[in-house]
Amino acid sequence: MNVIEVQGLRKSYADTKAVDGIDLTISEGEIFALLGPNGAGKTTTVEILEGFRKADSGSISVLGFDPSSRGVQSRVWRNRIGIVLQSTSDAGDLSVQETLSHFAKYYSTPRDVDEVINSVGLDDKRGALIRTLSGGQRRRLDVGLGIIGSPELLFLDEPTTGFDPEARRAFWALIQSLREGGTTILLTTHYLDEAEALADRVAVIARGKILEVSTPTQLGGRASAKARVQWKSNGVIQEELSDNPTDVVRRLAAQYSGEIPELQVLRPSLEDIYLCMIGEK
Ligand code: ATP
Repeated sequence: MNVIEVQGLRKSYADTKAVDGIDLTISEGEIFALLGPNGAGKTTTVEILEGFRKADSGSISVLGFDPSSRGVQSRVWRNRIGIVLQSTSDAGDLSVQETLSHFAKYYSTPRDVDEVINSVGLDDKRGALIRTLSGGQRRRLDVGLGIIGSPELLFLDEPTTGFDPEARRAFWALIQSLREGGTTILLTTHYLDEAEALADRVAVIARGKILEVSTPTQLGGRASAKARVQWKSNGVIQEELSDNPTDVVRRLAAQYSGEIPELQVLRPSLEDIYLCMIGEK
């Protein structure tokens, strides 16, 4: 089943074509990442899918529902989704525990508040007022608020901005556990390693259009790109591009009859491919 189906999505602000004809299909249980430079149209797309902005044209189905509809059905639909916005305004005088307990009441099948606090790594801050949290801790609470309602579909807009490396790893583990539970996730991120670690498929967006949809390992012909074999000879780095890097390494091993100095076999990273696609490399 497709959780999200979008065809011919367009949205302009005055002269700016923020979203310029996007087609997108995301299936149940998938983690799908939207990648693209600042101003590419990611947030506009996501906020249309969340029902916060109205498209100029296009057909949109999110969990079988048009997000721009209003009324009782819309409230039932909202109960099935979770949202972590790019930035949030907050009730700074409530504690972490109070805030999550408060929002849990809006949902018909909320998760256990203590369990959520634990899964976003805020055990130590359970009783702390929100205004006393650091930026990264605040972001963890946002993620907690996104998952408190046991959503079938979770939107994450740049969820790990401001996280330290350890918190990012813990967050990735949380997202993977949600995937195992069958949650569909639409993620926007500027961290290519995050997309690589989490996403089943990625879409690269630039100037309101999708350039390519693929798996992180196959994007932009990455899987078939030549490998770069590097080693050091007489103090100078040598390099050879090859479809068969093992052959190159064998040849060098015979030549050096032992350890090849500073040997590396490199393939283009997702970031290399992404930067090429958006014309930065
Ligand atoms: P970022 O990575 O910086 O968050 P993005 O890919 O999410 O960028 P959007 O926020 O969707 O990009 O913006 C797409 C384009 O639409 C940009 O040129 C932006 O300036 C413009 N835009 C977005 N929201 C509005 C608005 N409310 N009014 C006018 N222009 C807007």
